[in-house]
Amino acid sequence: MKPRLVLIGNGMAGAKLLEELVATAPDLFDITVFGNEPYGNYNRIMLSPLLAGDKSLDEIMINDRDWYQSHGITLNAGPEKAITQINRSSRQVHSADGTCCRYDRLIIATGSKPFMLPIPGIDLNGVMSFRDISDVENMIKASERYKTAVVIGAGLLGLEAAMGLRTRGMDVTVVHSNDIPLNRQLDQEAGELLKQQLSEKGLRFKMNARTTAILPSEQHADLNGDLQDKKQHVGKLQFSDGSELQADLVIMAIGIRPNKQLAEEARIHCEKGIVVSDNLQTYDPRIYALGECIQHRGGTFGLVAPLYDQAKVLSNHLCEHGVARYYSLPTATKLKVTGINLFSVGNFIGGGNSETIIYRDKQAGIYKKLIIEDDRLIGAILYGDTQEGPFYNELLDSTEDIEPFRQYLMFGRALCDEIKATYEPKRSNKTNIYKANANLKTNVKTKAKRPVEPKTRNLQDSPSTHKVA
Ligand SMILES: Cc1cc2nc3c(=O)[nH]c(=O)nc-3n(C[C@H](O)[C@H](O)[C@H](O)COP(=O)(O)OP(=O)(O)OC[C@H]3O[C@@H](n4cnc5c(N)ncnc54)[C@H](O)[C@@H]3O)c2cc1C
Repeated sequence: MKPRLVLIGNGMAGAKLLEELVATAPDLFDITVFGNEPYGNYNRIMLSPLLAGDKSLDEIMINDRDWYQSHGITLNAGPEKAITQINRSSRQVHSADGTCCRYDRLIIATGSKPFMLPIPGIDLNGVMSFRDISDVENMIKASERYKTAVVIGAGLLGLEAAMGLRTRGMDVTVVHSNDIPLNRQLDQEAGELLKQQLSEKGLRFKMNARTTAILPSEQHADLNGDLQDKKQHVGKLQFSDGSELQADLVIMAIGIRPNKQLAEEARIHCEKGIVVSDNLQTYDPRIYALGECIQHRGGTFGLVAPLYDQAKVLSNHLCEHGVARYYSLPTATKLKVTGINLFSVGNFIGGGNSETIIYRDKQAGIYKKLIIEDDRLIGAILYGDTQEGPFYNELLDSTEDIEPFRQYLMFGRALCDEIKATYEPKRSNKTNIYKANANLKTNVKTKAKRPVEPKTRNLQDSPSTHKVA
């Protein structure tokens, strides 16, 4: 009999793991999946284009139910199939409808939960998050019925939600606690450019604002037109400075928290998230976790690229295909709003021994900033022209010494590659390399370079790897 592998959470990380498993070892496990959304697997990233009307539901599906069947995977999908308990001693999981399933290996990929401000009025009708298909369906319904929306949070999700609702004809104000939108990705100058461009597209902003309460409206019935649940509908927001803002719809987009409740209840070691080792194993050697629910070397996750790397490492480990370890690299971010090109990666503020190279063309709306430390690129912001984003991302990942082509760095890959090509033949002796290329007017430096290790975080919170009998 094949070992039984059970997956809890049929989202982007869990489904990627399934793809990896069926690609590399299709017959190794007897696989059962529990997901509390009533679909196959869909591309959560594409919820923003779905809201904006640029994509249909069919277009954002990755693997429909047939895909699971054709790969011999048992899919239990729907709210009634949500796992409510992990019993580690009997090695079973239990779902809301009473289904019970035994495992030899258990994978937890329960994602994260939107953080909702703990303020009065948070449970009024018309106050919602932006996380799944049902949220988008409710937002579209609201946009057909109501006029005014407020989005709390000017991060990537908040801005994409705001532009989606604006595209659907609503008057939208974005409320943010900082004076820069996307302040975790952009500096002041790029943030101002973004704010200006979004304002031209019809968004309003209320910056440096702290929401203290959400108040009900006397006029609106609830979203479905009945008041069966006796809840009132949102009417306005109140702020710490005493000001108020009308709102028929409030979207909360102020961050996410790892969804670790199931694991915690099963007494699997958790801190901010479910703590895992470099091969995604929890402190229970039969149980693994990946995706936004985990904490790896002190860090948590909110973008897809690292989760896909985790899926590869975990699949490799489960299939016993040698040793692979997951380690975190800086992940680039983009905003999925038509007509806005921005890219941000790594440390875009600098400080300490870092140096900054800036290119700005105000008329063209272009701003580029590169941060360098110890002859390595450690961060970049590109606004208006993001073509070279992948190049800078690669430089960050590889921690390549940029000294030989530093003065051409801002002008992109093509020129840098040309310069590098002239260095290549004599790479073994740095002093000669620089002398040989003196005609390129590159500064001559002969100091020995210390190889830079990829930055790692505190190891102490990660379990060591355990062997399962
Ligand atoms: C609107 C939006 C836009 C985004 N845009 C981008 C982007 O442009 N780029 C990017 O890199 N990232 C983006 N992200 C983030 C990205 O979608 C997430 O990083 C990714 O989906 C996380 O994958 P996950 O599998 O960990 O969690 P999820 O995809 O959330 O999957 C977790 C699944 O587990 C299910 N689940 C939870 N508890 C249980 C239970 N007890 N039983 C059964 N099932 C359970 C959940 O319902 C869910 O289906 C975006 C996210 C959103 C919401």
